[in-house]
Amino acid sequence: MTSPVTPSPVTSRRSGDIAVVIIDNPPVNALGHKVRAGLATELAALEADATVAAVVLACAGRTFVAGADITEFGKPLEPPGLHEVIAQIGRMTKPVVAAIHGTALGGGLELALGCHYRVAVATAQFGLPEVKLGILPGAGGTQRLPRVLGVIPALEIMTTGDFIGADKALAGGLIQRILPDLDQAAVDFAREIAAARPLPLIEASDGKLAEARANPGLIDEFARSIARRSRGFRAPGAIIDCVKAALAKPFADGLAYERERFMELVQSPESAAQRYAFFAEREAGKVPGLPSDTPVRPIRRAAVIGAGTMGGGIAMNFANAGIPVTLIETGAEALERGLKTIRANYEATAKRGGITPADAEARFARITGSLKLEDAAEADIVTEAVFEEMGLKKDLFGKLDRIVRADAILATNTSTLDVNEIAAATSRPERVLGTHYFSPANVMKLLEIVRGTATAPDVLATAMAMARKLKKVPVVVGVCYGFVGNRMLHRRASQVESLLLEGASPAELDQALLDFGFPMGPCAMADLAGIDVGWRIRQGLGIRDEVSDRLYEAGRLGQKTGAGFFRYEPGNRAPIPDPAVDAIIAAAAAAKGIDRRSIPQDEILARLLYPMVNEAAHILEEGIASRASDIDIVWFYGYGWPVYRGGPMYWADHIGLETIRAGLQKMTDRLSDARLKPAPLLARLAAEGRGFLGPKA
Ligand code: NAD
Repeated sequence: MTSPVTPSPVTSRRSGDIAVVIIDNPPVNALGHKVRAGLATELAALEADATVAAVVLACAGRTFVAGADITEFGKPLEPPGLHEVIAQIGRMTKPVVAAIHGTALGGGLELALGCHYRVAVATAQFGLPEVKLGILPGAGGTQRLPRVLGVIPALEIMTTGDFIGADKALAGGLIQRILPDLDQAAVDFAREIAAARPLPLIEASDGKLAEARANPGLIDEFARSIARRSRGFRAPGAIIDCVKAALAKPFADGLAYERERFMELVQSPESAAQRYAFFAEREAGKVPGLPSDTPVRPIRRAAVIGAGTMGGGIAMNFANAGIPVTLIETGAEALERGLKTIRANYEATAKRGGITPADAEARFARITGSLKLEDAAEADIVTEAVFEEMGLKKDLFGKLDRIVRADAILATNTSTLDVNEIAAATSRPERVLGTHYFSPANVMKLLEIVRGTATAPDVLATAMAMARKLKKVPVVVGVCYGFVGNRMLHRRASQVESLLLEGASPAELDQALLDFGFPMGPCAMADLAGIDVGWRIRQGLGIRDEVSDRLYEAGRLGQKTGAGFFRYEPGNRAPIPDPAVDAIIAAAAAAKGIDRRSIPQDEILARLLYPMVNEAAHILEEGIASRASDIDIVWFYGYGWPVYRGGPMYWADHIGLETIRAGLQKMTDRLSDARLKPAPLLARLAAEGRGFLGPKA
């Protein structure tokens, strides 16, 4: 039996003397081998056809080419490469017009940059997001975009991966015209420019490079401005180098340099980790046991109970997504305070230029304060963010159950309480779940969605869809103390205490994690959250932390009192080591009869991170997380684990699980702490020479 010949994803049609080449490779017209080969064939035929005066290059479906085919990554590339197709366009003797709708991203934008003209519909977006995968635009993007847009705007796009809209693209000269449609209007445009010569290729001139040549310090200044957020990542620096090459070298040499740096990045461990993270995030969206056709209910109106730290941020999420929200408090003063904070937040964002003042106003207007629980009646989802007390939450859920519609979802933002117990206080446990936001709730992208034993599939599916609408990254977790993120964090926190007692300083602990790539160390983080927060939790649990409790007793509550693990100058959040804290720690250690020693950084790191990996193994075994990569997503988006190291599970696989197991065994023996004992899953995988994520990472 012969296999049917698959049609080429690239075809062309004629409109008089204008040829329209159509790429049709659903879902996003990725530039896989067949598309590249199809383009080469089609363009060669049109070049040879004397009846063709100009070519329009467009895409079928919902978007222009939205990037390379990332499944081809790491595999030997089948020719022609994208740069060859682009070079072929450059050699053509008739104009090629890229006609763009949807998103022209990565290789898609590079292809468009290689054309003579670019036109787009008003809703089109443009971007070079390669940096997010730890690589750079490797088909001329780093050489052409600065020529068109100017060095700094191009660097901004390439080092952030952010998109720009058609209006900005037009103003910057990236596109020549915004068209009402890409059918007749694009053909008309092509006919209009068909005879114009010479054919305008971006590389034919230095374009806006001259501006940067006149101001040689500009690029280094830009590099300094992104140093903080690009720390540890390899791609942003390489992109900057490529733009410098665009300034210093002829175009062809610049291209060769870009190629070289691209190859280096593709093979780098940072990029491998970032690509892993990309797929892990996609994977986290698929919930085991939840068919993709599970009905999703629209969230048209929301209510949030409690206008404190979390409730205010959660309400902002809904308002930002265009969903009207009622924010309900018990007392007028608390409500007033909550609304004032929200307003101040919006005003600050508008002041920084993040949103327009009108937008800030519109978002704030979507939030209605109320002192009556009955005002939650119309909500499709009610999110509870009151004090962390079981009695209070159960009482509230019982009341809400009688107020809201039978099909409404009741969600709790609890950090530690049993979601099943809360659900049992209602007559609809199947419509109850946890939505665990992270502070600040309007900023942090992680949303742990806590699936109760009774949670119905459509409720879970609706919460996942809602999370995406709120621009969050949802990860489904099971019910347990602290869920995935905080449960692992607790293991780290207990090591912080014992390391301090054994001889490390707060500054040394923080430095170890800063050097690893976290945005903040554990001691500075505790100072930010408030030393009293942990103290209150421990009081509830009837446990004591030697160091933190002494800080609390000394009135050192963290940043808010100007002193915690560190001291702080007024108006400055930079932590300053404080000899007074050294004395507190020394006294605590002496009281416990501990001989203090100096602890090397690699030991500090192992002590902080291995116990977290161990806890994650328990979490996996218990089915609290359905896959190892979900745990990594939690740590990227909830705690700032450096993406270029690939998350705690990926990282552990790379260290080797046997190394981690042996390290934990040593800690268990030395510290006589049973919680550090290697988890059965970790021990088994280590013995089998496997990793959490598969046979061998
Ligand atoms: P908070 O003390 O800042 O705010 C709680 C608010 O709830 C207060 O304004 C209080 O007046 C109000 N409230 C109390 N009882 C109420 C009732 N019956 N009806 C209406 N309002 C009522 O607390 P928070 O930090 O925002 O925490 C809220 C919840 O979120 C807790 O369950 C907490 O565990 C959880 N959480 C907190 C964080 C965090 O970092 N702060 C992170 C994730 C989850």
